[in-house]
Order: sequence, then C-alpha cells, then structure tokens
Amino acid sequence: MSDNAEIRFEGIGVSPGIAFGRVHLVREDIDEVVRYQIAPSQVTDEIGRFEAGLIQTRMQILEMQQRIAESIGAKDAAIFDAHLLVVEDRTLIDEVLRKLKTDLCNVEWAFQEVATRYAETLSKIDDPYLRERALDIQDVTKRVIRNLQGKAPKAFLSLSQPHILIAHNLTPSDTASMNRDNVLGIATDLGSRTSHAAILARSLNIPAVLGLHDITAKMETGQHVLVDGSDGWLIVNPTPETLERYKQIESRRAKVAAQLKQLRETTSITRDGRHIVLSANIELPEEVDAVAANGAEGIGLYRTEFLYLNRETLPSEEEQYETYRKVAERVRPNPLIIRTFDLGGDKLAAGAVDIGDELNPFLGWRAIRFCLENQDIFQTQLRAILRASTVGNVKVMFPMISGLDELRRAMVVLEESKQQLRSSKIEMAEKVEVGAMVEIPSAAICASALAREVDFFSIGTNDLIQYALAVDRVNEKIAYLYEPTHPAILRLLKMVADAAHANHIWVGVCGEMAGDVALVPLLLGLGMDELSAAATLVPRVKRAVQSLTIPECRELVGETLKLNTASEILERCLQLADNRYGDLLG
Ligand code: PEP
Ligand code: MG
Repeated sequence: MSDNAEIRFEGIGVSPGIAFGRVHLVREDIDEVVRYQIAPSQVTDEIGRFEAGLIQTRMQILEMQQRIAESIGAKDAAIFDAHLLVVEDRTLIDEVLRKLKTDLCNVEWAFQEVATRYAETLSKIDDPYLRERALDIQDVTKRVIRNLQGKAPKAFLSLSQPHILIAHNLTPSDTASMNRDNVLGIATDLGSRTSHAAILARSLNIPAVLGLHDITAKMETGQHVLVDGSDGWLIVNPTPETLERYKQIESRRAKVAAQLKQLRETTSITRDGRHIVLSANIELPEEVDAVAANGAEGIGLYRTEFLYLNRETLPSEEEQYETYRKVAERVRPNPLIIRTFDLGGDKLAAGAVDIGDELNPFLGWRAIRFCLENQDIFQTQLRAILRASTVGNVKVMFPMISGLDELRRAMVVLEESKQQLRSSKIEMAEKVEVGAMVEIPSAAICASALAREVDFFSIGTNDLIQYALAVDRVNEKIAYLYEPTHPAILRLLKMVADAAHANHIWVGVCGEMAGDVALVPLLLGLGMDELSAAATLVPRVKRAVQSLTIPECRELVGETLKLNTASEILERCLQLADNRYGDLLG
C-alpha cells in the first residue's frame, strides 16, 4: 500500500472518538530478530532473561518428550535428547554470555549469532551425525528465541511520539501498561467489543477499532490514518474532504457531549419518577476521578484483577488495602462494588500468577475457580476489602459463580477472612453486602436459589452472552453472532431480574450492554435497578433513562418477548430509543 489513495477498512468500533496520526505498526513476526544496544547496567537483566528462556525451553522439550513417549514410544522420544543437549551446552552458553558483555547487545541477537555459527560449522562437516546435530541446533535456536522474545520488554509500550498503534492483538496488560498520552488511537486484527482490551480502551478514552482481520499485513509504520472508533473505520491516507467531514462530525459530537455534561449533577430518574442507580465500571484506580466527573453514583464494578497484571509479584494485603481505601474514600457515600480477582480468560497475569496454557481459557481456570483453589491469594484480597469497608460504602462481589455450592464455598472463605480480622482485632464494617455476578447461564437459570443467599446480583452480560450463545467474546470472526438481543438472552435476563425481585434483592447490569443506549429501554423494562458502564458512557445512559417511562419500557419487553430473532428485537429497541433520544444514536 504505497500510493496515497484513500482506503477504508471496516472493523468493530469499540471505543468512540476520532483520532488522526501516523501509524506505529507492531509486527508479530517474532522470529525476525533485531539487534539493539543495551547499557552495561542492563547486562545482568539480559543474562536473567537468557537463563529464564533456557529453562522455559528445557521444560517445553521435556514436556514434548513425555507426550511423544506416552503416545508413540520412548524410542521416538529419544530424539529430543539431542535437543536437550543444545540448551545444556556449556560452550555455547558461555560464548553467548561473552558476546553479550563485549558487544553490549540484546540476548536474542547474541544467541542467534553464536548458535547460527555453530550450526553452520557443523553442517559443513562431512559426517551425517554432525549434520543432524546442526539441524537440532537450528530447531532449538528458534524455540529459545521465541521464548526470549515472549519475555522481552515490548518496545511499543513506551514509544515517545504520538502515534496510532496498529497490532495483531493487544492483551489487556498491553493496554493497561502502554504510554497512554502518546497512543492517539488503536487498530488491531483481532478482538471485539467485549474483549478486555476494548473495555480498557473505552475507559482510557482512546478511540479504537478492532477486528480488522489482517490489517497488520497491509500497513506500514509512518502512514497517515484516521481511526473512527464510533463507527468502526480505519481510513488510510484520508483525503482533505474526508478530514473536513470528520471535523464536522467531531463538532456535532462535541455539541452533544457538552449538552450531556449539563446532566452531571442531575439524577437518573425516568420521566415517571423511577430512580435507576447509574454507576461506573473501573479497571484502574486512577480512573476514579472520571466517576464523579461523569455524574455516576459510585462504582458498580471495580475489576481488581488489573492490579495483578503487569507485575512479577502479587500485591500485598497492605498495598491492596491502601488502593481500595483510596478508591472507597473518593466515591463515598456512594457505593464501591469490589469484584474479587477475575484472572483467566483473556486476562492473564504476567508473572505474578501462573494460570498456565489452556485450550479453552474462557471455560477454564478463571475467576472464583482460581481463587477457591488459591485461598491465600483470595483471603489476602478479602481481608483488604473488608478493612477498606470501614472508610466507605464497600460491597464485595464474586465473579463467575456457576451455582450454589460455589457461592457457599466463597462465602465460607469470606467468613474465615472476617474471623482472621476479628481475632487480630482489626476493624471492618458491621455489615458488608455481598453480591454474585450472574454471568454463567447455569447461575441465571438457578438464580432463585442464589438470590436467597446474597444481597444483590450484578449481571455480567459480556460473559453471559458468550456462554449462552457459545460465541467467544474476543473472536472477531464470529463477532456477528454475539447478539445481546438474542431471544435467549432476553429470557435469561428476565429470569435473573424476576428471581432477584421475588427474593427482595436488587439487580443490576455491569456488562457492556448497560452502556448501550439502544438497549437501555429493554433493561429498564426488565426491571433492572442499576446500570453500571464505563464512566464516559454514563452521561449518555443518564439521558436515555431521563427520556423514558417504565410503562413504555415494560411494553417493549412484552412485545419483544413475542419476537423470535435478535434483529427484530433490536429493531424494536432502536425504534423506541430513536423516538426518545435519536441524537444519541447517530
Ligand atoms: C461481564 O462478563 O459482563 C463483566 C462485567 O465482567 P468482565 O467483562 O470483566 O468479564
Ligand atoms: Mg465477566
């Protein structure tokens, strides 16, 4: 793509806004080794990376060897002995270390140089055994380099020039740790609306278009692009006319945003007087300023696992307590709902916690399942939350509850954590409300039983939809099947809301559905008491709530329950939304 014609690519707009700038392309081509200089003070770190890379490679070879031995036989598995010899070859390792110190270059480069020279020398010798050894070295070299690159600090996270970041994929930890001031916009091959990278981009207010399939293969660093995160366009070499049109769109959006700002101090009451609690979701403690600034009534979901990403050690009880306390103080007397640790799925901790590779991470060792097996980590967090309850209106919420047994097990750990504090005479609030996230279909179907044992429900529609419809929430290839208005979802939401009210507890929605103004009428009609969305979306949701009446929303639900397709239901929702606040939809 070298000429200057304008080209448009359509993806999934996941974080609204417009950004224009030069591309920085992150290539996934991890076998391409680049050389960079290191300072003498970095040599120890590079040696550490080298050692870790060799250990990791050794473990991988041993694992492969065992798998082959079990499935084919020990004789075939013996070929890996030669591979093991390479990672244990002292002469080779010492030479890499020497090169690292004398050339002051990164370890991937040093290793590749030395290993390639070894392999070349062996391959030239006229001896079949030694030629085989050369192949072994090449094979193992690739593996070591891949492991080293997996551990290398990602250079794009600290770029100092403003840029539009284009990458194959961004993990939630990449998004949380990049230099936000310089990232004007984001575009990626993979991902969708409810992937955690998208959720974070929204919270950080960075326009983003994901799910562009193979955009990284088509782009080059330095190109001019426009990211339209509202409508999902990546426009390469935008013409002056396109830029002008976007300027006008921006100014219209700015006008709507200014009107929405006026709503900050108003309450979210429907036209017929029903108060719907409007809260914000946060991932990072520094987002707390945006909560009140956008007129939210507290925090409906604090995704605490982001405390654990990007670090090598777990935060101590004290550190967590300090963080939760500060957030609670900032939002009091409004509630702060702290969700316990939801690692797993697309949120993998860097070094602090090892979930391991799983074939189906979203169905795997995630959230409460992980915590119940790691009670030290769980109790440390629960004690920190309980201690923070003395300074604010703190509630605790368990993620990924699949049924009553699991909920009860979590309650037992909570009770034990309280006991530990009591016996150490450490203060906590008299009563700390406990909620369950309803985000697994089994929990929705058995909601009545759960409702009798908690103080509130918060429906995690991001996961509820992915599990009910069997649609991986981060897979852009099947994003078209991810339909919040699917008749099955409507029924599940109704079951949960009805079960909550029959048992006199409140129910909210904290998935991305709560921030979609087209769907707010449906959620109000279903009886939701609270909606919690990214802080920047709260003013829009408030306008929607203030424009609607509960009877018209109930009527909408009655009608849509008779419809059998997601598109028909969506169309009916859009009709009502368009009648009441059409300017927010465009
Ligand atoms: C959800 O699943 O809807 C939710 C709010 O939690 P998360 O997006 O962190 O999985
Ligand atoms: Mg979830």
